[in-house]
Amino acid sequence: MAQPTGQTISQTTDTSTADAETYADFNWDEVGFGMVPTDYMYVMKSSEGESFTQGNVTPFGNIEMSPYAGILNYGQGLIEGLKAYRKEDGRVLLFRPEQNAQRLKIGAERMCMPSPSVEQFVEAVKQTVRANKHWVPPQGKGSLYVRPLLIGSGPVLGLCPAPEYTFLMYVCPVGNYHKGPLNLVVEDKLHRATPGGTGDIKAITNYSPVCKALTEARAKGFSDVLFLDAVTKKYIEEVSTCNIFIVKDDVISTPAIVGTILPGITRKSIIEIALDFGYQVSLSETLVFVIRWKVCCRQFDKQELIKICQFDQVEERTIPVEDLLEADEVFCSGTVVVISPVGSITYQDKRVEYKTGAETVSQKLYVMLTGIQTGRVEDKRGWTVEVV
Ligand SMILES: *Cc1c(COP(=O)(O)O)cnc(C)c1O
Repeated sequence: MAQPTGQTISQTTDTSTADAETYADFNWDEVGFGMVPTDYMYVMKSSEGESFTQGNVTPFGNIEMSPYAGILNYGQGLIEGLKAYRKEDGRVLLFRPEQNAQRLKIGAERMCMPSPSVEQFVEAVKQTVRANKHWVPPQGKGSLYVRPLLIGSGPVLGLCPAPEYTFLMYVCPVGNYHKGPLNLVVEDKLHRATPGGTGDIKAITNYSPVCKALTEARAKGFSDVLFLDAVTKKYIEEVSTCNIFIVKDDVISTPAIVGTILPGITRKSIIEIALDFGYQVSLSETLVFVIRWKVCCRQFDKQELIKICQFDQVEERTIPVEDLLEADEVFCSGTVVVISPVGSITYQDKRVEYKTGAETVSQKLYVMLTGIQTGRVEDKRGWTVEVV
């Protein structure tokens, strides 16, 4: 039911709060994943030896920089990505923003940059989303994608960390990602990440090197590329911008975080949800997490702890590419793709197909995860943060 551009949202949702003031003048039935210039962005600067102190919400627009800026010459920068979701009652929720803040801090350390504190980061996200609140799509129509950047904005010539940094954040309404099952191709020549490199942080420089493999794959009709480990080319790592899971019988596996895989927040959340559903998740960090979580919630009894600690239940996993041939289901995870089923994977001219649609593990996880994110399912873990 396409509606003419410019129509207010009151006809497209059932919420009583929906009116021209609540929502921007935008055709919410047509929201995709393209650039939409929203009203405000956030800017905070730090100078040499100083941490970030005070940032501001400013009108969205171009930024000015010296041609010598560290980011332009040497790629000193990090990206982040998270979403704001509309609840049925019109209120707005963020999903685990402190996780993005922590990941940015770790990345900043690796890239020799100062970073905003977790509190500064979360506050900046709240302020930016609040200022652009009428750009958060109605429930069911999409979400507001938040893109923080931390960049070396000061001038350098000889290679060294930049003398000034800018923490920048803009937002963009995006549609629900439903392109149908993904058809992946395994890339065995080009690599996304190498041991000791920056594949485990959201370094800006990680992304354009992936474009060649991605463009070639798309030209052949594939949706995305699945990368192998750069050392042995035997184990699967992840897709260009999302993590991967495989399902075999009642075991869900995902490559362990070993330094060449981006520790996705969606990935982490899926593991926690899957464990609650009673699936075995083959991953060692899960073990640590479950114990910590149970302890901090004072929820464990001794019997339960012993059960969790049985290593044959929670096996550490590097996933050989051959395991793809045996899997029942495969799915990808990330803030943008949420949980997207994989319909097929092609490896050296061999194509394997997987179960998709209703009754799949990925569908069950998707309903639960998006339910929590949009406030339809009770958030027992304190993952959501309201923007008031
Ligand atoms: C951002 C990203 C992910 C997913 O992380 P989320 O926190 O779940 O959005 C996975 N892989 C790569 C390479 C990424 O850049």
